[in-house]
This record gives sequence, C-alpha cells and structure tokens, in this order.
Amino acid sequence: MLEQGRVLKVYNSVLYAAAEDGVVACKLRGKMKKGRSDTGIVPGDIVTFVRMNEEEGIVERIDARQNLLARPRVANLTQIVVTIAAVAPDPHPLVVSRFLVLAERSGVRKIVLCINKTDLYRGDVRTLAADYTAAGYPVLCTSAQTGEGIAALRDCLAGEITVFAGPSGTGKSSLLNAVDSSLSLATGTVSEKIGRGRHTTRRAELIPYADGYVVDTPGFTQQDLSDLTPAELTACFPEFAGHTCCRFAPCSHSHEPDCAVKAAVEAGAVSRARYEAYAALLNEIRTKRK
Ligand code: GDP
Ligand code: ZN
Repeated sequence: MLEQGRVLKVYNSVLYAAAEDGVVACKLRGKMKKGRSDTGIVPGDIVTFVRMNEEEGIVERIDARQNLLARPRVANLTQIVVTIAAVAPDPHPLVVSRFLVLAERSGVRKIVLCINKTDLYRGDVRTLAADYTAAGYPVLCTSAQTGEGIAALRDCLAGEITVFAGPSGTGKSSLLNAVDSSLSLATGTVSEKIGRGRHTTRRAELIPYADGYVVDTPGFTQQDLSDLTPAELTACFPEFAGHTCCRFAPCSHSHEPDCAVKAAVEAGAVSRARYEAYAALLNEIRTKRK
C-alpha cells in the first residue's frame, strides 16, 4: 500500500518522513537514485512510499514542488518571516528591502516582517513598520527578551511551513526559543554557533509545530541579487503593481519620464524609502550585469 509523508530531514541518504502514524525512515528505490542527484530530496518534500515495516519504507516518487529555497535547501515553504531588529543591528531600509526581495523571489506565498528587540527601542516602533505596512506586508513587533508579540508570532506560525530569515544577530534563534523551547534545537549554544562558523550552512530540519512546521535553521542571512533582471526586481516590490506606466512598457521606474511609480512616490502613495531601496538595488544589479 502506498502512503504519503512529508520529509522532515535527510541524513546519510535516509530521509525521515512524517506519515499519518509517525516518522518513517525511507530509502530511495534504486531507479529513483539516478537522475535525482541534481536536486535530491530535501526537507519539505512530499514523498510517496511503500511501507516495509513499522519504521521503514521505500520511496516511490516525489511530488512536484511549490518552491525550493537554496539556502537552506528546503521545499514547499508557505511562509517566510523576515526578521530584523528595531536596534542592534539597526534596520537600514536598504537591508530590510533586500531581504524582502530575497523572500519575494523565492516564490513563497506569505511574507511577514518581524521587528524584534522592541524592548531596546526608544521611539514608536510603528514608525519603523510604516513603510512596510504600506507596502502590504503584515508586520509583527516582538521582543524575545520581554515576550512582547510572541503570542502573535505563535499564531502566525500555526498551520504554516515557515522559515525565518534576516540579518545575523536580529534574534531569529532567540525568537524560535521564545515561541517554543522544542524549537530551540535550532538555536544551539553560543559555542556551537561559533564552532560552526558564520558561513557554514547546517543541514535544515522541519520541526513540527502547531499543525505546521518551522525550519530549525535560519534561511538566507545574505545573498547576492545580481542574477535578478530589472523586471524581476520590479516584481519583488508588490506595492508598485497598482501603478502602471503606459509610455514605457516595461518601465524600470528609474530614468523614464511620466513614470507612474515615481508619481506615486511624489504623491505619497508609495513610500520614498522603499522606492530609494528599489533604485539602489536596481543600480546594483545593473552594475553587476555589465
Ligand atoms: P540570530 O543571529 O538572528 O539568530 O540572533 P540571536 O537569536 O543569536 O540573537 C542575537 C543577540 O541578540 C543575542 O545576544 C540575543 O540575546 C539578543 N536578542 C535577541 N532577541 C532580543 C530581544 O528581543 N531583545 C534584546 N534586548 N536582545 C535580544
Ligand atoms: Zn515607471
């Protein structure tokens, strides 16, 4: 009888899939091994397997993926929580938008912005959130330290397959820990973090949480955008979509006259900080593509 499961982790060519009645250790059927070496099966994949016994199975096939994140390699995410800090590190608008662009391009449907370390912020956090709320992003304000906003973060994780992403030091590990200590596998100890080194990527694992899953390793902490085309970059700014530039199609919203996006910035309908981040990123990819 064939069964389906979601891959939680892959280790030494054994993949651990969550099935109806528990986790089953699966191997690939011989013929599947060939030709799959390009991608392999990754956490998040849905596999169909034949049960050998209570604990083991053989994978027959893998479902088509909704999306595939490169770092860490995880498939079928439904949500990315882009985590920034209100202070330390300060949220530079260009950095925040860069992460939102990385999230948008991954093809994951829901993108949430989480502004952490509210306990350290002296001003009104809503002013930090304004540009992103206006762009259409749900914004959560949290403190892993005081617990502010953690209940809302738990609600936001329910039923979703979530990865946290964002600059290092913004509190991603601390937030996972504050949400549920069973997710703290992700956080590791400080020494473990240092030992692993900044640039080594650990194998990701899906941890079941609230009828969904949370990836235990933070996603992209930084990444190059230079393989994006200008049109792809534009598509990563959802708030531009409602402003159609008729004269120049496609319009890059930079040097063109009568640009509807630039007019929307002047009119205050599109945030200037977001537009400036767009312009800087556009410049960056144009320079790199030369
Ligand atoms: P990550 O690199 O994004 O996983 O960040 P960490 O979770 O390792 O946190 C980086 C540093 O910020 C640590 O020293 C945490 O104790 C601290 N930190 C995390 N969240 C908060 C917060 O909400 N408030 C304060 N004051 N410090 C925090
Ligand atoms: Zn335009």
